[in-house]
Amino acid sequence: MTPKTQNPKPKTQNPKPEPPPSPLLRIAIQKSGRLSEKSQQLLQSCGISLSNGSRKLKMKASNFPLEVLFLRDDDIPQYVSEGVADIGVVGENVMIEKNKEVQKIEPLGFGKCRLSLAVRREIAYSGADWLEGKKIATSYPHILRQYLKEKGVRAEIEEISGSVEIAPGIGLADAVCDIVSTGSTLLMNGLKEAETVITSQAVLIASPQLNEAKQALLNKLLFRIRAVNTAQQNKYILLNAPNSAIQTISNILPGMKSPSILPLAEPGWSSLHSVVKEDEFWEVIDRLKAAGAEGILVCPIEKMVL
Ligand code: ATP
Ligand code: ZN
Repeated sequence: MTPKTQNPKPKTQNPKPEPPPSPLLRIAIQKSGRLSEKSQQLLQSCGISLSNGSRKLKMKASNFPLEVLFLRDDDIPQYVSEGVADIGVVGENVMIEKNKEVQKIEPLGFGKCRLSLAVRREIAYSGADWLEGKKIATSYPHILRQYLKEKGVRAEIEEISGSVEIAPGIGLADAVCDIVSTGSTLLMNGLKEAETVITSQAVLIASPQLNEAKQALLNKLLFRIRAVNTAQQNKYILLNAPNSAIQTISNILPGMKSPSILPLAEPGWSSLHSVVKEDEFWEVIDRLKAAGAEGILVCPIEKMVL
């Protein structure tokens, strides 16, 4: 027999290399509560579509590589720190209290509230010294401990998980440290606000160990969030003015660069278009009128990219 000279064929052909899995960003938001609707609205205004069927535990966006996990807000910092979710939306109060390893990425402008100390209305509260030796009920022991330490006050912290505001009324505590937004709950329970411990709003948090692909998706999402939030903080303003007032009015309108100026059909008059900050708006309007502006229109802006 002649020996075979040809190399034997390989038994199996090399399988094609698998394409790398396409990256997916996982965001944790509150399942139901004060932040849930606004968190979903934020994603929607960023152009991300979520099917609104029966509320599941998780949902994939149809037009962005994003998966949404619906969780209790208290669990979000832990899930994000452990990388189960890559990013999350949570109150800054919860982020600080849970003290997990997460990065604060962006304030979101909703869910505004404060964590305050409150005492019975009839108490002549004289300052943080009044708390010395007292018992304070709270669901925020970590933040409260920190605050008392900074103030050099020793007080007993009674940790309770809900209905903190009834504690003084039933003799469980001398004071409470709880979330306040309008103060009406305190009032109903015969309490008054004594100190603001922290102010808070919803924030976007991220896991400290995002890989490059996820970081790129986060940047893309963040670009959209900023465009939406900047737009909400500004208004588009249009007005008519005599040409002689254009210079003065241009100086009042800070705008993005400088106002657009279009001639009106009426000789000697122009229309000016610009952008004003929502919180400077009323003051600017008075000055514009004084400078000779007429027919002022103010419109919302949907997206704004600086
Ligand atoms: P969960 O069931 O998810 O644990 P929760 O009862 O702890 O919900 P919510 O009352 O829905 O939480 O509040 C969520 C967050 O909304 C708070 O942590 C806070 O950041 C913010 N917030 C804004 N205004 C208020 C308010 N008036 N009272 C309480 N929280 C507020
Ligand atoms: Zn909660």
